[in-house]
Amino acid sequence: MTSDSADDGPTVGFDDLGLSAPLRDTLHDLGYEAPSPIQAATIPLLLEGRDVTGLAQTGTGKTAAFALPILDRLDPEQRTPQALVLAPTRELALQVCEAFERYANRLDSVTVLPVYGGQSYGVQLSALRRGVQIVVGTPGRVIDHLDRGTLDLSGLRFLVLDEADEMLTMGFAEDVETILARTPADKQVALFSATMPPAIRRLSQKYLDQPAEVTLRTETTTSANTRQRYLIVSYPQKVDALTRILEVEEFDGMIVFVRTKLETEAVAEKLRARGLSAAAINGDMPQAARERTVEQLRAGTLDILVATDVAARGLDVDRISHVVNYDIPTGTQAYVHRVGRTGRAGRSGEAISFVTPRERYLLKVIEKATRQPLERMDLPSAEDINDSRLARFDASITQALQSPEVGFFREVVGHYVREHDVPEADVAAALAVVLQGDSPLLLDPDADPRDHDRGPGGRRESLAMTPYRIAVGRRDRVDPRQIMGALANEGGLQRRDFGRIDIRSDHSVVELPADLTQETKERLKRTRIAGIPIRLTPTDHRPRDHRGRGPRTRPSDRPRSRDDRGSKRRKPRSR
Ligand code: AMP
Repeated sequence: MTSDSADDGPTVGFDDLGLSAPLRDTLHDLGYEAPSPIQAATIPLLLEGRDVTGLAQTGTGKTAAFALPILDRLDPEQRTPQALVLAPTRELALQVCEAFERYANRLDSVTVLPVYGGQSYGVQLSALRRGVQIVVGTPGRVIDHLDRGTLDLSGLRFLVLDEADEMLTMGFAEDVETILARTPADKQVALFSATMPPAIRRLSQKYLDQPAEVTLRTETTTSANTRQRYLIVSYPQKVDALTRILEVEEFDGMIVFVRTKLETEAVAEKLRARGLSAAAINGDMPQAARERTVEQLRAGTLDILVATDVAARGLDVDRISHVVNYDIPTGTQAYVHRVGRTGRAGRSGEAISFVTPRERYLLKVIEKATRQPLERMDLPSAEDINDSRLARFDASITQALQSPEVGFFREVVGHYVREHDVPEADVAAALAVVLQGDSPLLLDPDADPRDHDRGPGGRRESLAMTPYRIAVGRRDRVDPRQIMGALANEGGLQRRDFGRIDIRSDHSVVELPADLTQETKERLKRTRIAGIPIRLTPTDHRPRDHRGRGPRTRPSDRPRSRDDRGSKRRKPRSR
């Protein structure tokens, strides 16, 4: 038995693993940047034909670690099942099927069939008769099919035991052994398990042929001056959770880690749409552009970097006070590296990891490997957010009191107080109303936090829009997202502030709210897109309607600002 450490050696890319071009292209399409440790270690072994036992849990990317080599080596001519994956639960079986289908996207007609109890035999039988290449099933139902003679495993070439320890815990030991015994002797076997109890070891010794053992030996020290917390959050709640955290945490610079390149752009854009200063860096960006972005972060002209592991490798910026694992990483090494981007130069740091309910397991793995429990945190409530908004409000008053302008305005206010005979506190309150404009200072604590991303309701559809001309067009290769991103960023606009966007050959027409302030207009005028000054000017030409293409037709994409939820202005609570 050999021992391979999944985290040793220089960084490998998907191009180094020996996978065929269509699979590599698919991984690129999916935005996967680099193999996870378990993938880097397992894929070459499985492609070589070795049996493998892998110690790995959900969330580490183990599904791709076995699915990719199997897909790579399928025989398109063979009509009987070539691969069988045994999984403990119906949910996992379905997930594995979906993963196979996702990774087979660029391959011709790969057929995958889930086989689990509770589903009618009819569907399974007709699919089996038509011929499937990959069967993913729970042990009980697979045995049923074997007993009925409806599943022909005589031509089986690959067998995977997924979450083997779970299968044994669930009482499938005998079924698994029966299936192993009733499959051809010369098949390749991969066994994945989160733990390696003696029963699994015995199974591996009996049914696997000199398996390579892949374990994740990792760098496990995280800085002692970094507080590490986690938040249980469902996937759709993540943007809202991040926005709330940004409101209540006192941060200087922040890195938000996501799993894919595509997601760096998507998350950065969502943050910008909420008026935050955020930019994406990923491995697809030219080195020079990446360095420029990091430089902005260092200089403080940018506060939030949304990054993949690869892009943030070795990043060393002292002012990073917070690391947020928007997606929990696929290995302890990545976790340790990410967390190490903060708490630098003797400063204290904060690391917050988002964990979806399915990924709790990974949290345990990280805690065990780093020998450090993570502290649970709750989603900041509306009250928490309101407290910090009020604190910021107070701070802005304290700061403004230092201004030399205060003397002048004291005269102006004094004049008003004398003329109208109202208390000074009322005048101050009235000025705050002017300052605050349309958006309430406080959140409505009764509003459902999950409404945040749901769109409609607070849209500006009914508000008057004005068409503006900007001096970039198709010849500059701009697209609506880029225009929205830039204008939102410069003008502090939200997605909902955009109407139609019509890209013409040498210019574009964009609908923006008719009530933009002069200051916003000035800032927008100075905006550049693709390096070109856009020279924003009002125009009489209404944009042509691009039904189905423009942002206007995608209301579900439009985040509402948190302020849309409580239309009634709340009185500040006494503090
Ligand atoms: P798994 O452990 O197989 O359940 O995978 C966990 C999640 O990670 C899934 O959502 C995969 O799509 C994703 N994933 C797997 N491999 C990679 C990778 N190399 N880069 C980014 N995401 C990945």
